[in-house]
Order: sequence, then structure tokens, then C-alpha cells
Amino acid sequence: MPLTTEQLEQLREQLVAEGEKLGAHVRDVVGHGADPHGDAGDCSASLAGAEFAFGLEEHEHELLQEIDSALKRIEAGTYGVCHECGEEIPLARLNALPTARCDADCQERLDRESPGGPTAGRGPVFAKR
Ligand SMILES: [Zn+2]
Repeated sequence: MPLTTEQLEQLREQLVAEGEKLGAHVRDVVGHGADPHGDAGDCSASLAGAEFAFGLEEHEHELLQEIDSALKRIEAGTYGVCHECGEEIPLARLNALPTARCDADCQERLDRESPGGPTAGRGPVFAKR
């Protein structure tokens, strides 16, 4: 079942709230998502456009990028589809992890193939030399 507009909207709000938690500064950017120039419902808020100049930790920086790319996927209509196998990601997983690009199976496989790799979507990423 594809996500309904309502479900997408809820997930989008979750992502935006997540971004806000990372730093009050983000609020300014996200808060302007409802730009008068944009069409209603076409929220083109982009965290990436928000120059990460406010000294975020690298980890937070990465998270924000995850959030931003998830928001972009929502805009592009590709959100909620597994990046790897093209299957729909279960809503329960999206609710738990709105930035998920893959379903649990693929994520697990990816984690196994590249432990600590750039696609590790959870926990601290251990820097490799
Ligand atoms: Zn998959």
C-alpha cells in the first residue's frame, strides 16, 4: 500500500521536528517551509540550503542531511520505497525511523556488508582511517 498523503504529511512533520531537535537554529529554516511563494502543500523546505554554519557536530550534520534527503524524497514522491530492492518500506518502520531509505532486511544486509559505512543509518558512525 502506498503511503497516503496524510501519512506522508505526518512523517514529514516528524522529520521536521527531528531537525528542530538537532538545533534551535534549524527552526528558522524549517519554519519557513510554508513560504508564501510556494504553493500550498508544496513545502520545499530544504535543510541543505541552510548552510551548516552553526557549529553542529558532525554526527548531527549527518543526521540533518539524512532528514533533508528524506524530505526531498517526500517531495519527489519516492519516499517510503526501499532504495535497494524497490519494495515499500513498512509504515511502522518509517514511523520509528523516518529517515530510513531501506527496509529492515536491506538495511541489515548493508550494515553487514559495510559495517560503519556511510550508509549506517543508526548510532554513531565510527570514523575509519
Ligand atoms: Zn529492500
